[in-house]
Amino acid sequence: MTADRRRRVLLKLSGEAFGGGSLGVNPDVVSAIAREIAEAAADVEVAIVVGGGNFFRGAELSQRGMDRGRADYMGMLGTVMNALALQDFLEQAGAQVRVQSAIQMTQVAEPYIPLRAERHLEKGRVVIFGAGAGLPYFSTDTVAAQRALEIGAVEVLVAKNGVDGVYSDDPRRNPDARKLDAVTYQEALVSGLKVVDSTAFSLCMDNGMPMVVFGMEPAGNIAKAIRGEAIGTRVSN
Ligand code: UDP
Repeated sequence: MTADRRRRVLLKLSGEAFGGGSLGVNPDVVSAIAREIAEAAADVEVAIVVGGGNFFRGAELSQRGMDRGRADYMGMLGTVMNALALQDFLEQAGAQVRVQSAIQMTQVAEPYIPLRAERHLEKGRVVIFGAGAGLPYFSTDTVAAQRALEIGAVEVLVAKNGVDGVYSDDPRRNPDARKLDAVTYQEALVSGLKVVDSTAFSLCMDNGMPMVVFGMEPAGNIAKAIRGEAIGTRVSN
């Protein structure tokens, strides 16, 4: 990286946060997230992968009788709705934004074209990747790792809802679980730490891509992570 090239990050936002605890999009929540990103994006190239848990999770629908592949496509379509909502609020906050979708829907989003995404970032635009990988059986965490690798981001920033990093054990079940400042991918995988899915961890591990797992709350955390301040848990090799 040359000295004058700006820091480039891939931010993963969980869909659950967008709903503010319920189904759909809570405009107040998304607007607050967008203002934070727009401010930090003035100095950093920011690409975003949005989740869709506030609409549908394929695995949950399939447990209730739906075909898994079809349910996963519903999940991916949910991420596109989140991408459009985020685009809107980011634009209101003064950012220039392009949405790219892994499933073709050219009226609402560009197709996923990595080189074009890089060009947008160089021009100072925020790029939002919707529709996951366009493939069932994947999660948006894994897509975040893949997109980060493909566009040459320096790290994946995984913003979580309701948890502020990686813990030594599940903090909901074990009151002695400790939050870790740093952990290796190997340790996270061997210990079965599930805050991020194992496919995302292994993709990053195999390709030397560092990850920061942090909580979206309190306000200001997303901006800190984008700027590269120490926050949450750093996962690396
Ligand atoms: N999904 C998928 N392929 C992908 C990304 C997502 O099938 O490449 C589906 C999957 O059903 C998933 C849903 O979209 O449950 C929403 O994504 P995710 O659960 O990762 O969202 P988050 O938990 O981050 O809100």
